[in-house]
Amino acid sequence: MTIKTIRSAFPVLARAHFHYLDNAAMAQVPGQVINAVAAHDVAARANVHRGLHDLARRADAAYEAARESVAGFLSARPDEVVFTGGCTQALNLVAGGLAESLGPRDMVVVSVAEHHSNLLPWLMLAKRRGFQLASIPVTWDGRLDLSDLSMIDARCKVVAVTHVSNVTGAVSDIPRLAEAAHAVGAKLVVDGAQRTPHGPVDPRALGADFYAFAGHKTYGPTGVGVLWGRAEHLAHLPPAAWGGGMVAGLDGETVDFLDPPRRFEAGTPPVAQAVGLAAALDWMRGLDWDKVRLHEAGLTRQLLAGLAGLDGIELVGPNGLEDRLPVVSFTVKGCHPHDVAHLLGEHGVAVRGGAHCSQPLMKALGLHEGCLRVSMAPYNDDSDIHALLRGLAEAVRVLR
Ligand code: PMP
Repeated sequence: MTIKTIRSAFPVLARAHFHYLDNAAMAQVPGQVINAVAAHDVAARANVHRGLHDLARRADAAYEAARESVAGFLSARPDEVVFTGGCTQALNLVAGGLAESLGPRDMVVVSVAEHHSNLLPWLMLAKRRGFQLASIPVTWDGRLDLSDLSMIDARCKVVAVTHVSNVTGAVSDIPRLAEAAHAVGAKLVVDGAQRTPHGPVDPRALGADFYAFAGHKTYGPTGVGVLWGRAEHLAHLPPAAWGGGMVAGLDGETVDFLDPPRRFEAGTPPVAQAVGLAAALDWMRGLDWDKVRLHEAGLTRQLLAGLAGLDGIELVGPNGLEDRLPVVSFTVKGCHPHDVAHLLGEHGVAVRGGAHCSQPLMKALGLHEGCLRVSMAPYNDDSDIHALLRGLAEAVRVLR
């Protein structure tokens, strides 16, 4: 396997003068995924768990096989895998279910580095149910500051944190947080949206109780995500959405919900998207991740060195390679991040500028105008970094 063969699997990357470095917002899809979704729509397009005709049986089989692929990616059991519409939906589902048993004497601990998807559900539910919300602070370089975890005390029922920051690429110490949460009987919810694009993960081994991620960041379709939960926790989690396909029986006001995972999949699930996600995760599982991680770290090193050579660049987040993934943010003195992102776009370089749905982190780091974010995937190469650095020097020349 070479980076060239990885790159060649992605039809969009054949475009000339195209340098896609906005992978943390959405990754591109390999041909296998595009074909798997199209083939499903031709051969097995039907609703699941309802019909008895040929297409319906094929759809059921494809959907449950997709669940098994996701389970394989997570080293988990298929009945621990719930399909959702995305990572935000997965986090809302677990937050809504857990919050049902929380009240004014309880506390949920999040972190300052959360994406709004793992903050707003808890914040809004805290207002509704009256529980307290506390935040783990961050260090100057945007890492979770775990030096004082005394807020994870007997009142704390849930700790909800990101595995990897969507702004800084910093990897959180999940085993340590699991230990602190479990010591007081709290559950650990992990937002895996930015970790899963960089290889298979074993959330149970990390100590997580629930783990969420998105299809569109893991080289799969949009409109699909996953909530993984330990079987023993899913068994007691109340559903946070209701509708068809989730009950064994309904008699007057007596409702008998199906067992997980179907209890959490009310309505028509994203069937073709789940099939596409499975194709994407199967593709990922076929990569040599030791090699890919070395490649990604090499690109990060090259980018950090290139940025250090440019005038007026200030890094946001860790300046080394340890415990970080290939997401690098920075500001450019005297230039608004949106202006720089726009000019880079004109050079065929796709990056993201703004607050990255992480306003508490922007505030904590004093980034009033947000920052620029470069996020890499296995298919990026030297040419992308060179184009970015060239474009950046040119943008700075124009804007200053
Ligand atoms: N958490 C993190 C860390 C993210 O980066 C994102 C995507 N921007 C989300 C959650 C939300 O995921 P989705 O778009 O699938 O709802």
